[in-house]
Amino acid sequence: MRPVILCLDDEEQALHLLVQQLHRELGDHYEIPFASSSVEALELLKILQTEGVELQLIIAAQTLVAPRGNTVLDEVHSTFPQALSILLTAQEQAAIAPRGNAKSASSLPPVELYRYLTKPWDETDLLMTVQAALRCYQQQQDLLQHEHAMLQAHDQSSSSHSLLEATLDATADGILALDRAGQITHFNQALLQLFSPQSDSGEAMPPAGHSAGSLLNNREQTLPHLKQWLQNAPELWEQLMAQTIAGAWHDETTVQNQSWQDSSLTISPPHHPRLRSITLSNGRSLEYQSQLQMVGDAIVGQVWSFHDVTERQRSEALIRYQAHHDFLTGIANRFKFNDVLDNMLVQAETESSQLAVLFIDLDRFKVINDSLGHSIGDELLKSFVQRLQRVCRHGELLARWGGDEFTMVISNLSPDGATQAARRILSALHRPFEVQGHQLRINVSIGIAQYPQDGKSAEQLLKRADMALYQVKEDGRNGYQHYLPHLDQKGQALFAIESALHKALERNELSLHYQPQLDTETGEVTHVEALLRWQHPQLGTIAPEQFIAVAEQNGVIFPLGEWVLTEACRQAKAWQRMGLDNLVMCVNLSPLQLSQADLPTVIQQVLAATELEPRWLELEITESAALRNEHVIRDVLNSLQALGLGLALDDFGTGYSSLSYAKQLPFDTLKLDQSFVRDLMTNHSDGVIVQAVLAMGKGLQRRVVAEGVETEALRDLLKSWGCRYLQGYWFSCPLSAEAATEFLLTQQQPLVQAA
Ligand code: C2E
Ligand code: MG
Ligand code: MG
Repeated sequence: MRPVILCLDDEEQALHLLVQQLHRELGDHYEIPFASSSVEALELLKILQTEGVELQLIIAAQTLVAPRGNTVLDEVHSTFPQALSILLTAQEQAAIAPRGNAKSASSLPPVELYRYLTKPWDETDLLMTVQAALRCYQQQQDLLQHEHAMLQAHDQSSSSHSLLEATLDATADGILALDRAGQITHFNQALLQLFSPQSDSGEAMPPAGHSAGSLLNNREQTLPHLKQWLQNAPELWEQLMAQTIAGAWHDETTVQNQSWQDSSLTISPPHHPRLRSITLSNGRSLEYQSQLQMVGDAIVGQVWSFHDVTERQRSEALIRYQAHHDFLTGIANRFKFNDVLDNMLVQAETESSQLAVLFIDLDRFKVINDSLGHSIGDELLKSFVQRLQRVCRHGELLARWGGDEFTMVISNLSPDGATQAARRILSALHRPFEVQGHQLRINVSIGIAQYPQDGKSAEQLLKRADMALYQVKEDGRNGYQHYLPHLDQKGQALFAIESALHKALERNELSLHYQPQLDTETGEVTHVEALLRWQHPQLGTIAPEQFIAVAEQNGVIFPLGEWVLTEACRQAKAWQRMGLDNLVMCVNLSPLQLSQADLPTVIQQVLAATELEPRWLELEITESAALRNEHVIRDVLNSLQALGLGLALDDFGTGYSSLSYAKQLPFDTLKLDQSFVRDLMTNHSDGVIVQAVLAMGKGLQRRVVAEGVETEALRDLLKSWGCRYLQGYWFSCPLSAEAATEFLLTQQQPLVQAA
């Protein structure tokens, strides 16, 4: 039958959480029954008693078991006298919890109190406390057994000594017995192992002239060494001796009542009733406790047991470290960050100083991760963190919030401290990262909120820094932004977009508009670009730039992209059937879709379903950091090209690809980004770039399309430079399906008439 941990709390939610956390950790070894009222608890206790289980620990909300005299704890005490208790208190209750003085001790529960925990508790703290309490319980049981063995041994006069020694030596814990005069009467092999000096490899080293085995065989010789080792821990030695001084012993009536309790209980604070710990100069950490050695009603000495917790403490330290640090990068994680931020806020309030919270998000990191693989993504994150840490200053803490999001808190902020930190971060990223042979460039967007003006709580500061971050993303990423009050409304709108996007497809709120491209040599429309539109019933028209990024983040981009593809191909086929049979349909593809393994199959299925020949479809792929990985991208592009469709490099010139790079990949079309075209009349260097792209396009037989041509003057200039294909408001805005049909039919008329 498994031992039992009993949970009592009248707050259902807390009780549920408690039981759940215990189950995860200890469910394999313990029964964990629970009750939410005293009545239930009493019934449960009756059942446990009938079943004859071993109740080791009771974890109870103080609200349920206080005040003293409560029948639940009395019942536990009388039925399971060995059980320990952990009391859950609210913060205020803990502050006034008894500290062992006579007056407040009367409110202590009768069950052996191991520790108080304040609500809400930290899970790691709870589990460690519970495990420590269970070990304490176990040690208590061991001591009972030792005592039992010793008493038996005592009774069996002649054989008693060797039996006692054998019993003691068989235990893993170190056992030390002192008589009333403070003389060592017994010790075991384990005790010698624990207290003797250690070699570098952690082995116990016997004193010179002794072999490890010979130590025990010659107790007389060993004794002075042991005494010396014990005295090397003066604090412990003092305690050992203090227990032997006449008067420090309890009088015998008290001893009888306290049976197995440590005689020092009355002077220990209630959260460490018996178990104490010490770290020896040989590096071992021990937990120890003592009890009186009785023969009949008389005290004959004191028995101490020592348990080696070195390994456990090491692993606890490791667990604590892991619970507060990010596994990949080794910096603080979200929990530690929250902790530090809370402390810094308290400090800022007391000192009337300022602090700032920064939310740092890697721009388009998901694209890198998805296209180059997680191992490169992980490496990049590590290098990124190292570089940021180099520019962190005293009083700044960088933490990984999760995924590609990082947070930073800056204490003792100078007036423009946050701005300076943001600039330091941005400029640290100017140089590209070298990861597994790839040159990768990352940018970040940074949102900043400051205490006290933008918020007083950690939660509010984080939320507002996040809102500011979204603003940076909306403004084109790669920058920083301080929180401004109007962002609150914007943030809510963005949240609304995210939740509505999931339903937009089902509710038919999406449609495609079509923007024609003009061939200036023939005056014909040769291509039409499909552009996504979202008409939200409450939020109105939402531009693709507002929601494509959201769709990329939440994965909706995949069904969305497939819908666009199908709808555009269906429209292209419909136009063909109307006689508009010389038109290529251009469809925008998110770089994320490129990482979809079955993309070629999906496209093939769409073409088959809509009966459109592949040559009438051109996919536009936006230049992005992901495209830097030439090998991966080339395979995908080759397999798409093998289907017989066209490929266009969209927004050419805005990303990272060089002219030679564009030449190496199988793009049929380069779409010159509008930002070059817009200022062409005034910006000389834009002109130089555009002319170079046109020349290269010509040489490589790539079709070059200028986007964003808004005026006749621009059209004339581009045409004079030999740019044959134009797209822009000057010729036509994106049009609804009906309007586009009409536009295309009228465009065709002169040709039809001429024919
Ligand atoms: P894009 O592919 O570069 O599309 C061209 C954008 O420029 C369109 O904006 C178009 O309306 C706009 N535009 C066209 N002519 C002019 C002009 O003369 N002047 C100015 N100022 N702008 C002009 P839109 O429709 O807002 O789309 C923005 C971006 O959203 C697109 O840029 C494309 O990257 C993305 N997008 C649109 N539809 C889809 C889609 O179905 N799937 C994906 N993945 N992305 C899409
Ligand atoms: Mg496009
Ligand atoms: Mg474009």
